[in-house]
Amino acid sequence: MVTTLSEMTKLWDKTLKRIKESVVDTKTFDSFFANSYIYEREGDTLVIVAAHKVAKVMLGGKYADVITDTISEFEDDIYKIRVITEDEIASSRKKTPDQPVEKVSKVTPTTTTSQYFEGAEVKQNLTFDNFVVGEFNKEAHKAALYVAKNGGTLFNPLFIYSHSGLGKTHLLHAIGNEIKANRMPNANILYITANSFVEEYIKFVRAEKDSQSLKDYFKGVDVLLLDDVQLLAEKVKTEEMFFYIYQDMINKGKRIIITSDRQPNELKGLEDRLITRFTQGLTVKINEPDTETCVEILKSKILASGLSLEKFDENVIYFLAEKFSRDVRELEGALNSLLFICLNLMDEEKITMDVAIKAVSSIQGGKTIAAQLSEQKIINTVADYYNLTPSQLTGKVRTGQISLARHIAMYLIRKHLDIPLKKIGEMFGGKDHTTVMSGISKVDKELKTDKQLQDAIRELESKLK
Ligand code: ADP
Ligand code: MG
Repeated sequence: MVTTLSEMTKLWDKTLKRIKESVVDTKTFDSFFANSYIYEREGDTLVIVAAHKVAKVMLGGKYADVITDTISEFEDDIYKIRVITEDEIASSRKKTPDQPVEKVSKVTPTTTTSQYFEGAEVKQNLTFDNFVVGEFNKEAHKAALYVAKNGGTLFNPLFIYSHSGLGKTHLLHAIGNEIKANRMPNANILYITANSFVEEYIKFVRAEKDSQSLKDYFKGVDVLLLDDVQLLAEKVKTEEMFFYIYQDMINKGKRIIITSDRQPNELKGLEDRLITRFTQGLTVKINEPDTETCVEILKSKILASGLSLEKFDENVIYFLAEKFSRDVRELEGALNSLLFICLNLMDEEKITMDVAIKAVSSIQGGKTIAAQLSEQKIINTVADYYNLTPSQLTGKVRTGQISLARHIAMYLIRKHLDIPLKKIGEMFGGKDHTTVMSGISKVDKELKTDKQLQDAIRELESKLK
């Protein structure tokens, strides 16, 4: 008699295999049978977890007889099945906290030693509750909430992209927190940046660890939250390893959520097969927030910091929201410097426009503007302005308009960030420093006489602020 989880899992595997081979077509199998697993046995009944709600209805209804018939080929004391979804496990778990139940995937032997990604964690303070939703991010929010609340393979992977500072990392942690709080309390949820994947891979190669071990580590991961995937670019060996791990997780129906600073087909230096796979789930963009939403964000952050909105002149909030509406991180930075000022205020004193303007101009003056600017931001802004993609701007095509835009980007990077010419050359597809120099001096020279160019630079600089 089959009683242990691993015996039951074997039985289920055999059953699925038989059904796939001789009972249903591949499409039906993939839609309803794939990614189901055994939860437990209750007497003569096998409890099966279906990948999603529709699968539950189909397996427990139309295909129930097929399933019990097939099971009976291998095992003669199981007559019935009961089909549930992961959500139902989560709620039954809540009701009986004294009897923790483990998913089968947890019981199968995996090396989940924490030799990899030490310190990686889902940050508890980044949740859906403190994520403000507006027109600019509502699609990403909806998709994130969906994958957090539902198992199954729909929208796997979820790929979220935007410029920096617009809430991608926040959403990843929110998804992790939501899954842990409700759907899969015992799940092993891994939040990492692509950079830390690269680092672990290098450590793994250096230490010449058993070549399976990084792969094995991921076998114990139920949900992967991968931040800033663009950082995998040009790392061929690491990509190979990642590809394997990615494919294995997707095949097993494990949720993967990826973020990036650009859309998949602009991920220069990443293997095509990865890019293709990234687009097989759902891709959503976070746009730039409108002022109204920024006001909401500011208000929620003020309240979260324990201050009352009364402390601020209403105009101050609008002023900040308008000034920093391109980037929530900058918005927070500006607010933090105001909150700092608040520490020195008397109880009844308010933050007035005067105070706010001073605080903000101190952030914008001198070095700090350079610290807030990055070469990527300049590249994105210039590309946007000339209707190009960032990769066209840093690429090799040399038609008039693209060349001009490229020289302007180099000029702005040099002027505002004071980065060495050689490094600028590297950002633009490995150009020689003399090429960069000549591009920059061209802009410099033409700026003296070309009115249109002067306007363009002025407008770009104001966008960068
Ligand atoms: P990204 O990963 O896109 O660069 P982050 O997720 O790090 O951006 O967001 C930058 C900061 O702004 C974080 O402190 C984050 O909590 C905050 N933030 C971004 N979007 C929102 C939002 N919609 N509501 C509340 N806070 C937000
Ligand atoms: Mg981020």
